[in-house]
Amino acid sequence: MTIADKSLGDALVTADQPTDEDFTLPSGGLDDASRKEVLAKLEAYYADVQPRFLGYQTNQELDLRQDMASFLNYNINNVGDPFRPSHYTLDSRAAERSVLAYYARLWHAKPREHDEHGGLTDPEAYWGYVLTMGSSEGNNYALWNARDYLSGKTLMVEPDENGTGTLMWVQDTAPVDNQNAYSPVAFYSQDTHYSVSKALRVLNIPTFYEVGTKMYPHANPLNPGQPWDMEVPSQDGADGPGSVDVDKLITLVDFFAKMGHPVVLNLNYGSTFKGAYDDVATICSRLTAEVFTKYGLDKRKVRYGRDPETGAELVDERTGYWIHVDGALGATYAPFLERAIEQGLVDEPGATLPAFDFRVPEVSSIVTSGHKYPGAPWPCGIFMTKSNLQMQPPTQPAVIGSPDTTFGGSRNAFSPLIMWNFLARHSEQAQLDMVVRAQRVADYAARTLAVVPGDWQVARTPYSLSVRFRQPSDEIVHKYSLATVPLRDADGGHTDYAHLYVMPHVTEELIDELAADLALVEVPAPRDENQSITAITSYIDGTADTPDIARLALVRTWNQAF
Ligand SMILES: *Cc1c(COP(=O)(O)O)cnc(C)c1O
Repeated sequence: MTIADKSLGDALVTADQPTDEDFTLPSGGLDDASRKEVLAKLEAYYADVQPRFLGYQTNQELDLRQDMASFLNYNINNVGDPFRPSHYTLDSRAAERSVLAYYARLWHAKPREHDEHGGLTDPEAYWGYVLTMGSSEGNNYALWNARDYLSGKTLMVEPDENGTGTLMWVQDTAPVDNQNAYSPVAFYSQDTHYSVSKALRVLNIPTFYEVGTKMYPHANPLNPGQPWDMEVPSQDGADGPGSVDVDKLITLVDFFAKMGHPVVLNLNYGSTFKGAYDDVATICSRLTAEVFTKYGLDKRKVRYGRDPETGAELVDERTGYWIHVDGALGATYAPFLERAIEQGLVDEPGATLPAFDFRVPEVSSIVTSGHKYPGAPWPCGIFMTKSNLQMQPPTQPAVIGSPDTTFGGSRNAFSPLIMWNFLARHSEQAQLDMVVRAQRVADYAARTLAVVPGDWQVARTPYSLSVRFRQPSDEIVHKYSLATVPLRDADGGHTDYAHLYVMPHVTEELIDELAADLALVEVPAPRDENQSITAITSYIDGTADTPDIARLALVRTWNQAF
């Protein structure tokens, strides 16, 4: 019997998606009727799929047409720094600054207050911007800033004849007793989003695996004599909750700090597949107590020139670490979840929600996505750091900043409006109610799917909005737009999993429908282990012979959902 015979509810996807042929553009364009027909077909398809959309962490409850549609007729752009004036008059920087101030408050960042000369009163005052891409841009930007901050570079102003000054980079040389002082090493867990490893490659920041394998091949402190792990192991491996193994992380960081390297650390807050929270607060306080202070990474001096009069060295004091929090999903709702837990509205016995934000003094930057939880209809997000960690001339008032402070040039000015609109429409109490409801439905989903007949291996990490289970048939994956991922087993094989994400639009009725459909089908047999590995390897290097795990790890798209 095929799945079609079994009648998966009434509602397999019924509307057709417009095809390449529908979208074909003849040289004369399309007449209005044909053009509108294609658009109507597209909208009918979206309208059919959206109500059952379960697999990805994107909120589908938008309701934007009425208030936002008219802004589509303006070509608006936030080019440049959000805190500096611009000649581009069609902008939304004021809304952007308001959104940034909101997240700064939520994440306990130091406010931006100015003295009578226009300088920031607190060097740790927040700085950030609304991203044009999602958290991938924020991760790239954070790691770029981390690299330049840790590799001994300083941005200087050289006075010129018109008195404005020319910007230039100064690079300190490593002290003779530590050749590694300006060679940062990156650490991230095996549950990390692929944008992080991609950014590290783009930026040429080596990981501990690469530096360890090349410089210290026999010194792996986790498994003496064995090859280095490619990523920091997550707690209990692929079957675990998805948060980083704190002891192993500390052991690895300690090794490279002892060798004199500065440290770039990415931590996850709401990991992509399992929605897991790395224990940012514990990791940071342990690193300071056990590693950073011991090896002088808590404070170090970076030289950027000599005083022309006295000849004395000019030095900037910096940390020898950068701790970035990838909060693509979790950083938008966790502040409200934290309050809900304090008020006893959500409770996971035995679990705690770790603190992650600027209350943790070691945290250097945070990123979150606007299109995941808060319901922006396209990729966007927030990047935030402290002003004194930005690359800017050390003697300049912080408010001057550097002239081109963001990742791109032109920046999406519609996204800040969408974010502002969401925050203005949802009081903090409404946001708290929203996350309480999502937690309740996620708990309901885990309990409901767990009693579906068959060994679906249903699991949910505490306080996560994600519920994972064995990957069902293609029909069900398609019907609910489920995300699928092969997870590595302890024995090196892979098992296919799917997940759903309980975003604000997901109801208990939708979970019931999925459970009813799963009850109609069998748990698929495990697939032939090496099939997809070999296929991807042969795609990379043109041979299908030996699975090349090192290359796979660099590519990583094979085990990432989103
Ligand atoms: C989705 C995701 C990203 C990438 O975010 P985009 O907004 O898709 O660029 C980064 N990190 C994590 C943990 C994610 O889940």
